[in-house]
Amino acid sequence: MSEMGQGPTLALVHLFHEIALKGGNRSFFLKTAFRNIEAALVGTGVGRVERRSMVALVPLPPEVQWPLVKDRLEHVIGVERLGQAWRVPPAMDQIKEAVASALEGVDASSFRITAHRVDKGFPLDSPRINQELGVFVQGLTGLPVNLKHPDLNIRVYVHAQDALVTRQESPGVGGLPVGVGGHVAQMISGGIDSPVAAYMMMKRGCNVSFIHFHSFPLVEGTSREKAQDLVELLTRYQGSSRLSLVPFAEAQKQIILAVPPAYRVIIYRRFMFRIAEVLAMRAGAGALVTGESLGQVSSQTLENLSTIEAARERLPVFRPLIGMDKEEVVQRARALGTYPISIIPDQDCCSLFVPKHPATRSRIADVEAMEAQLDVAAIVQEALEGVQERRYRWPEGDRPARLAPTEAQGGGSLAKEAANGA
Ligand code: ATP
Ligand code: MG
Repeated sequence: MSEMGQGPTLALVHLFHEIALKGGNRSFFLKTAFRNIEAALVGTGVGRVERRSMVALVPLPPEVQWPLVKDRLEHVIGVERLGQAWRVPPAMDQIKEAVASALEGVDASSFRITAHRVDKGFPLDSPRINQELGVFVQGLTGLPVNLKHPDLNIRVYVHAQDALVTRQESPGVGGLPVGVGGHVAQMISGGIDSPVAAYMMMKRGCNVSFIHFHSFPLVEGTSREKAQDLVELLTRYQGSSRLSLVPFAEAQKQIILAVPPAYRVIIYRRFMFRIAEVLAMRAGAGALVTGESLGQVSSQTLENLSTIEAARERLPVFRPLIGMDKEEVVQRARALGTYPISIIPDQDCCSLFVPKHPATRSRIADVEAMEAQLDVAAIVQEALEGVQERRYRWPEGDRPARLAPTEAQGGGSLAKEAANGA
């Protein structure tokens, strides 16, 4: 079984620590995490994944491209750390051979050993393993030990059936595996905030469906394109996504005719919530999610948030960014990779025919009086009839496929899709 002098034969994937804390749900959480790892690795050529407590062992045949495998694993929510590993029988001599293999070709200025004796039957405890291997590596390389900031952290995991050695574990994205947190519907605008909000929900284990309102052909179709690109990017973190594109221009025309400028944004947003709630419920989602943060813009004062959400009837509204400032959101968007898409200039549908200073302290009674001039149900129905559905999958070949849009005939086919678990 000695793999001495060879390249690493496994990827060692550690699951997010919080999964271990989930009591009676632990096995469900673990199963979901392993399943998501397996799904993300489709088409890479790796062997059958071995599931072991809080780690996944992924066999890497020689022809497999590690950068591809690594990239896939870095998009699996629920992965805490990952790295290539050498596997040997659990004996010090063999472990030393594996450490020597792991050091081959490595250029470092300092190191440490971090041993984990998982199998308490192993004769040396973790500090003793550290010590013995530390002396061994120093003899081999002459490198100094640096416990706090080592250039190279050689980790050794001693299990009953084998020992695993890694030299360069890198962080995964963490979070709870997608699928354990239920299904939510993200209102996605094409801006900076909403994709970050969606990602935060995914990291709490949610499957996220997306709803985008566009004013095409009243404005150009850029926001629609941006929403699609953002959903395509985010799909890498959950495997598959649904995007509902809602035509909003007709609703806006009617609102513009009946509502004074200062209140238009608020009433646009109330209609968005009404329509989104229907779509979310048809898709089986249990909550609406927005990228709102308190005080960020005039539609996000406490009064306006409350007037706006009063338009929906049943679903709770989640706002993961509510307490974050813009700079923090921008940082997250950059790390996530959505930022460059989000800042492409477009004409947001909420900016249509609204003044520079919209009402900031709306009252529900006033807003309802304005809406009494409108046929609310008919506007909602008309928008629903024009919804286009798109599906995204990852991985599928080497690129996410953008499936041809299917025109949803009223609510009927949507509801059927939801019923089919699609
Ligand atoms: P974002 O950067 O997400 O666009 P924002 O700071 O521009 O947010 P608003 O435009 O007021 O703020 O939107 C607040 C939230 O309302 C968005 O985060 C999103 O959840 C939702 N929203 C706004 N416009 C749309 C839209 N066209 N389609 C779907 N949801 C939208
Ligand atoms: Mg916006």
